[in-house]
Amino acid sequence: MPAAPGGPRLLLRRLREAMAEPVSAQARLDRIVVLIAANVIAEVCSVYVLRDDNTLELFATEGLNRDAVHITRLRADEGLVGLIARQAEPLSLSDAQSHPNFAYRPETGEEIYHAFLGVPLLRAGNTLGVLVVQNKTYRVYSDEEIEALQTTAMVLSEMIASGELQALAPGAGSAARRPVSQRGVPLADGIGLGHVVLHEPRIIVKRLIAENVEIEVERLEAAIEDVRSAIDELVERGDGIGSGESREVLETVRMFAHDKGWLRRMREAVQSGLTAEAAVERVQSDNRARMLRQSDPYLRDRLHDLDDLANRLLRRLVGQEPGNGLAAMPDNAILVARSMGPAALLDYERANLRGVVLEEGGPTSHIAIVARALGIPAVGEIANATALCDSGDAIIVDGASGEIQVRPTPEIESAYAEQARLRARRQAQYRALRDVPAMTRDKVRIGLNLNAGLLIDLSHLAETGAEGIGLFRTELQFMVAQRMPSAAEQQTLYESVFAATGELPVTIRTLDIGGDKILPYMPALEEENPALGWRAIRIGLDRPALLRVQLRALLKAAAGRPLKIMFPMVATVEEFTRARGIVEREKAHLRRHGYVLPSDCKLGVMVEVPSLLFQIDEIAREADFLSVGSNDLMQFLFAVDRDNRRVADRFDPLCGAAMRAFRVISDRAEAVGCPVTVCGEIGGRPLETMALIGLGFRHFSMSPAAIGPVKAMVLSIEAAEVRELIESELGKVTDGVSLRPALTSFAKARGIPV
Ligand code: PEP
Ligand code: MG
Repeated sequence: MPAAPGGPRLLLRRLREAMAEPVSAQARLDRIVVLIAANVIAEVCSVYVLRDDNTLELFATEGLNRDAVHITRLRADEGLVGLIARQAEPLSLSDAQSHPNFAYRPETGEEIYHAFLGVPLLRAGNTLGVLVVQNKTYRVYSDEEIEALQTTAMVLSEMIASGELQALAPGAGSAARRPVSQRGVPLADGIGLGHVVLHEPRIIVKRLIAENVEIEVERLEAAIEDVRSAIDELVERGDGIGSGESREVLETVRMFAHDKGWLRRMREAVQSGLTAEAAVERVQSDNRARMLRQSDPYLRDRLHDLDDLANRLLRRLVGQEPGNGLAAMPDNAILVARSMGPAALLDYERANLRGVVLEEGGPTSHIAIVARALGIPAVGEIANATALCDSGDAIIVDGASGEIQVRPTPEIESAYAEQARLRARRQAQYRALRDVPAMTRDKVRIGLNLNAGLLIDLSHLAETGAEGIGLFRTELQFMVAQRMPSAAEQQTLYESVFAATGELPVTIRTLDIGGDKILPYMPALEEENPALGWRAIRIGLDRPALLRVQLRALLKAAAGRPLKIMFPMVATVEEFTRARGIVEREKAHLRRHGYVLPSDCKLGVMVEVPSLLFQIDEIAREADFLSVGSNDLMQFLFAVDRDNRRVADRFDPLCGAAMRAFRVISDRAEAVGCPVTVCGEIGGRPLETMALIGLGFRHFSMSPAAIGPVKAMVLSIEAAEVRELIESELGKVTDGVSLRPALTSFAKARGIPV
């Protein structure tokens, strides 16, 4: 096998000279392929660029028929070149033609070549094209040659990404800048149009080729040393930087900082003639490509950690501090982040923020809760989002479907802009209803309240004209905190809630943790069935200290005003009476110490465990009020995990069985004279709420966005007529059959907006 005459260092030096020449982009590329072919001793060197129509176009060649340049195009799933683009990995073959993916293109005259080495042109893990060398003999390319070609590919990737090659084939952009549409999961509803702001901007490496290799080696070593000691210090201090960086993550990052394979690969890249920062980027680009193909979430997380470390190194090498983007926040900003804590989101200027896009983050993540509270459209689980977009790119976030559109075409942009206008018009109509009392046409008053959990939620009270807070989920304060909120912190929060709500009634729910609501600072329990495990009131009764602290904070904060407290996940009357006993003891304690007590203290029970349906009279007599937590009630009634999308559609809450369960609660509460509210998601959907009104419910608590649509429905129904319909339909249906079709056509015939 012939040895490369000058090795990668010489090649990079030549490339640097070629990059500096004042010639056209095509002439430069033509020169580069000649240089590479000579350096690797190959008869052929070709560059293919991935176009926005997903074809790979021959942009330059040494050795193949030059007339084929800008003519030969391969589909991205075609040929060996397509395979490399797809897999984002090098491919080395001594006999290319025997490979099943070999695609023969007569115009290139390539049938006489046997040996084939192709490497992807990668940037931040995305494939921009493919670089290929070929030989007539059946030769085997050495690891050094593969490595050298990958390093060269990096220089070409920058040429593509910088747009220098755009002019070579007008009419179609390179894939690096093409429109991209991707679907993730919806986190917060709404449509946002704007421009990308990277939460932690990627560092763009501009200086790729070393002028002096020895100096670059020293720079790399110094940077590694610095980053290592910074991480050591963080681990020793035992706290995180910024939000949520736990000790465990830091320990993993520290482990990687000492990873020999990683360090060796970066050192080799510098030795081959790259600058220190280009070497870090070069090795990281491979890692990112691996990460994107990795489906094991654990390994993907580890590769993320490595990405973190590479970013720290890059920042150190190019002298940038981690920015939070606050300074350069443009109007209509769409934040794009790998992951982000709720505190980081709250740091941004709300007024300019139009959307959030995350690579991670499920619908129940804290960032999703905060985005919903702020009314910012958000989408999660968009793979590689931070590499797909560059700062300033146009982007659309569709928080309803979970889709994003990066660099959208004008047609897509105007379709979304139209949708956003429609939504805004509808919102304006709902705002116009703000001060209209929620009353049916036959004068039945319906109480519409808000579900809340953070202080920022309370601004929606004035916006929506809701009558009060029907469910304040206190666990949210605990979930977004770094550590257990102290008694004083809890009291301050509740005081702020009461200050913000003024005269309006607020129903506070005690801590509903466990199940899917995990506190990061509490040791996680290994339970077979956490939804049925040690959670909510069960923890409160078994560990009364936690409940007592919360109750005391609530009672103190509500001094002199009315207070409504309710308990989650109550399964027996006895659980409620025990909880009431704890409240009474706290009240007695405060009274003894001279505190002013709430002017009135009502204690309620959430109806979310089906066992309560069979002791409903007793519980309605004991409690001051009931609140139907339909999310959990349905989950337990139908044995359907509320967070499992696979089973989510297996029952309809408007089916006979569910409706009869709701009827039992409504009828018996009324008979006993116990007020009852529905506070699960079902109470925020107009059609379902209409059915519940038909069953006799008069009070609902829902998310802020639901108030307008539900009120519009309420204003256009006759409660008595809906009751008749429900009664007659419930008399007819057998279990499992849904009332939905009958209710829908009823609403349609009467022009009721549902
Ligand atoms: C419910 O279960 O319906 C409810 C309102 O409580 P959460 O959604 O917080 O469990
Ligand atoms: Mg619940």
